[in-house]
Amino acid sequence: MYYAQKFLSLQSDYDIRSMTKGQKIILIKRHPMGSSYLAICLFGFIFSVRPLDSSEYNHERIHAAQQKELLYLPFFLWYGIEWFVLYIKYRDGKKAYFHIRFEKEAYRHQDDLDYLKKRKHFHYV
Ligand SMILES: [Zn+2]
Repeated sequence: MYYAQKFLSLQSDYDIRSMTKGQKIILIKRHPMGSSYLAICLFGFIFSVRPLDSSEYNHERIHAAQQKELLYLPFFLWYGIEWFVLYIKYRDGKKAYFHIRFEKEAYRHQDDLDYLKKRKHFHYV
């Protein structure tokens, strides 16, 4: 659902801008969910503190597809409960985040820009 800051791309603003043409992003001033997160996808809308590179944008679009197929509210419930269970297991919020099934799917496939065209529904189950 969010994008960790340690994955911030090192590309210049100019490069990012040329890569982000046509992206539908709502730019926000404050980081969502604390400073280590860059972007968040809520109900199909992508909010971000800066333009995203193509992989970052793809990551959020994968979350948009997950949310849509779970009809939104169940996605957020599942996401939150899974994070909490993983947090109990690992005692580490960031580690829990990276082990959420929705994040695993999004991180695994974010560099494949054609992924959403061939993705099967409920791929994370
Ligand atoms: Zn994510």
